[in-house]
Amino acid sequence: MGRDLSKVLISEDELQTKIRELAGKIDADYAGHELLIVGVLKGAVMVMADLARALHVPVQMDWMAVSSYGAGTKSSGVVRVLKDLDTDIAGRHVLVVEDIIDSGLTLSWLLNNLQSRNPASVEICTLLRKPDAVKVPLDVKYVGFDIPNEFVIGYGLDYAERYRNLPFIGTLAPHVYGGE
Ligand code: 5GP
Ligand code: MG
Ligand code: MG
Repeated sequence: MGRDLSKVLISEDELQTKIRELAGKIDADYAGHELLIVGVLKGAVMVMADLARALHVPVQMDWMAVSSYGAGTKSSGVVRVLKDLDTDIAGRHVLVVEDIIDSGLTLSWLLNNLQSRNPASVEICTLLRKPDAVKVPLDVKYVGFDIPNEFVIGYGLDYAERYRNLPFIGTLAPHVYGGE
């Protein structure tokens, strides 16, 4: 692990503090409502698990799996549903939980898809957001950290399916993925 990682960008403590802060806002905004949090597999597993435990409003959890990146580091722009929701979201308050928004392609597609199912509301919570995300017209209500345009791993985020289990967010050394 050591030589593949170039630095720790966000520590375990910083992540947990931010998750509690996000949960506080979500609790306040959804007071008196029941919330369906939808995690986007696989990257959002850690933030879903920690966020769900930090929330006090009644929560149900569901999952979607979509593919956008394959094994590399560049977006293909093509979204494929690998696993759909088990829940009928009509009339429900839905909060989509994401690990990271980069181009925003995945999420704008997903949002359109969910909105067509007539939920009471759909909002987005993302742990991380990269600078390119400003180019897409996405209204993201909850953002953990705005990060620089680097490829990050850990806390759910992978490179070729590795490093998801790291409890912090790190950047990958460029030699690992053929960068400079
Ligand atoms: P977008 O469609 O917004 O460009 O990309 C969304 C998805 O691409 C994320 O959910 C994540 O799976 C992947 N992705 C984007 N940037 C990164 C990154 O820096 N590191 C990792 N591991 N995955 C990323
Ligand atoms: Mg994701
Ligand atoms: Mg990935």
